[in-house]
Amino acid sequence: MPELPEVEITVRRLAAALAGAEVESALAPGVVALKTYDPPLQALTGTPLTGVSRRGKMLVVEAGELALLVHLMSAGRLQLYDKRASARDRSARLLVRLADGRELRLREFGTRQRAWVKLLAAGEVGDDEYVATLGPDALPAPASEVFAKLIDQPRHLHPLLRDQRTIAGIGRSWVDEILWRAELSPFRKGAELEPEEVERLRAACDEALGAALEHYEQVIGETVPDKMPMPLEVHRRQGEPCPRCGTKLEAIHFRDYVMSYCPAEQTGGRVLKDRRLSRLLK
Ligand SMILES: [Zn+2]
Repeated sequence: MPELPEVEITVRRLAAALAGAEVESALAPGVVALKTYDPPLQALTGTPLTGVSRRGKMLVVEAGELALLVHLMSAGRLQLYDKRASARDRSARLLVRLADGRELRLREFGTRQRAWVKLLAAGEVGDDEYVATLGPDALPAPASEVFAKLIDQPRHLHPLLRDQRTIAGIGRSWVDEILWRAELSPFRKGAELEPEEVERLRAACDEALGAALEHYEQVIGETVPDKMPMPLEVHRRQGEPCPRCGTKLEAIHFRDYVMSYCPAEQTGGRVLKDRRLSRLLK
């Protein structure tokens, strides 16, 4: 699940490796992944790659006057390979072949095709519906007054922090880590927090995401691996002791994801009802 730290390290590694490379050709074996048709992919032929950057959890591969806006969704990876993909690689969604023989490849794991790419004029990236509606980046966390205003909404913290229009870059893994660091329940509402709690949450954003990125800088070499070495302390660790207080971590299972937390420090000792579990017990 690539979120801000995972996408940022991908951007840094790709930017370093791609500087000066020229596009030989581009094709989209995953037809559904390419969401634009004008300009056509062929317009990339012969252009130099001029930079890689990030907008929230999305990547932008800049190619002169053009830009590829890439959303990895939950299972996509944008990686650089020394050799071209085999035609049988069914995970390939977009192939950007470089004149030096390397290949920038968007792959997606799993059965669902959800990752997407748009080829846009470089100047139009900011107008894209997903980019234009992004809230401020979560790392570094916005200034205290700005953050307090963003969070002041009558919504539960878990979906609120994952809403890219509120704050950009946080998803289902890091939200658990941030709430655990802040010692706040996922079911508290943003508008109900005391100023001191808002500040704790802001600091937790910075610490959790910053520490993850620092970790990646140390352990990830020139190539970003298929499986990210995510330094998670609570997410999906239900049943294990809380690294801070030793209480058994609990979780609530939703259809697509798991919300993990420490009952002692986040929910006043209460173990919240796990719908999946209660359904099974019926
Ligand atoms: Zn704890």
